[in-house]
Amino acid sequence: MTFDLTPEQDQLRDAVRALGRRYGHSYFVEKARAGEHTTELWAEAGRLGYLGVNIPTEYGGGGGGITELAIVCEELAAAGCPLLLLVVSPAIAATVLSRHGTEEQRKRHLPGLADGSQKIVFAITEPEAGSNFHRLGTVARRDGDGWLLNGRKCYISGVDEAGHVLVVARTEDSSTGKLKPALFLVPTDAAGLTRSKLDMEIVSPENQFLLYLDDVRVPADALLGESLDAGLPALFAGLNPERITVAAMGAGTGRYAIERASEYTATRKVWGGRSIGSHQGVSHPLAHAAVQVELARLMIQKAATLYDAGRDLEAGVAGNMAKYAAGEAAALAVDTAVQVLGGAGMTTEYGVATLLGAVRAGRIAPVSREMILNFVAQHVLGQDKSY
Ligand SMILES: Cc1cc2nc3c(=O)[nH]c(=O)nc-3n(C[C@H](O)[C@H](O)[C@H](O)COP(=O)(O)OP(=O)(O)OC[C@H]3O[C@@H](n4cnc5c(N)ncnc54)[C@H](O)[C@@H]3O)c2cc1C
Repeated sequence: MTFDLTPEQDQLRDAVRALGRRYGHSYFVEKARAGEHTTELWAEAGRLGYLGVNIPTEYGGGGGGITELAIVCEELAAAGCPLLLLVVSPAIAATVLSRHGTEEQRKRHLPGLADGSQKIVFAITEPEAGSNFHRLGTVARRDGDGWLLNGRKCYISGVDEAGHVLVVARTEDSSTGKLKPALFLVPTDAAGLTRSKLDMEIVSPENQFLLYLDDVRVPADALLGESLDAGLPALFAGLNPERITVAAMGAGTGRYAIERASEYTATRKVWGGRSIGSHQGVSHPLAHAAVQVELARLMIQKAATLYDAGRDLEAGVAGNMAKYAAGEAAALAVDTAVQVLGGAGMTTEYGVATLLGAVRAGRIAPVSREMILNFVAQHVLGQDKSY
């Protein structure tokens, strides 16, 4: 057992950290407030190869794994730039394409994802189905040699920045009469696909949308994979990378908040010559949050290592636990940081309260803490399903 990164992973971490710090949280917040995107940061990260670290080399990527992508997510977040689209585009879409796309789909999409010139976002959530993916109502019907898609999706991140949306729909399996899921690569400018931006209480340059699919016609090769049978495994292929990278983003955000707060409490003096951090009422909550973040990081490392070793089932348990732990730790760390900063904690200048919405959302999305507890109760503890 080792807890060390390889020299290459160490270098990647240092380089991404340096890039993130050059932009920093004020850049992230300014972009969000101006209604703009982090275009420069994304482009530079793409040029330097960080967005494609997990994409096979033959498609322009770095040939690494989710361990490397988690490093990128964590270090950018630790610099105050938690980019959710890293989870959506390189983690989910690139993994699904690499593992289950046709050769033609891989060649067409992966190089652009690797160099950052393209983004593919992911649409599964629906207003009626919510956490219950079995209730998906978006339907794909054969139409000549293509498909016709109809349905609604909600909270879909980054549609305004992406060339394609990977839409999860249901198809009718004529052999069994059962509905089965399928994934479609739908251009964001496809006729019949419209969107409306949701107003979210999250300070972020990345937006969420309602998507309406009204008779969206896509050609046969928009279906991800060689056949309809690719749908379910492709859907599951995206889950572990999603959980692990979103956890890494949470851990990085927690580190960022604790660092900002610790700098402040070590120097702020309001009782004679002693820093407020010398009072345990201030330092213990920070230390407690630091312990929770570090525990989450260990679980992320375990999950990523299992995933990269091809041990998908074990990675599923560890990835869910890592996501749960990091979501809770990030929310605790940011809340604690705000508290120990006092009034400064609520200012934009100190750059911590700006993360409250994001870390709160991290306990809900992309999978809620309750659905993870359900998963652990059923699959680890052997409890009956209650729903
Ligand atoms: C910032 C943000 C970005 C997002 N980006 C995307 C995206 O890019 N693509 C995408 O497809 N989706 C996205 N989502 C949607 C997200 O995945 C869902 O919000 C999440 O899965 C929860 O679904 P819901 O909101 O419908 O909650 P609901 O399913 O309505 O659940 C509401 C509450 O009830 C709890 N609950 C539900 N069922 C149970 C149960 N059986 N047992 C215990 N508790 C239960 C839930 O945990 C939750 O707390 C995003 C959401 C947010 C907030």
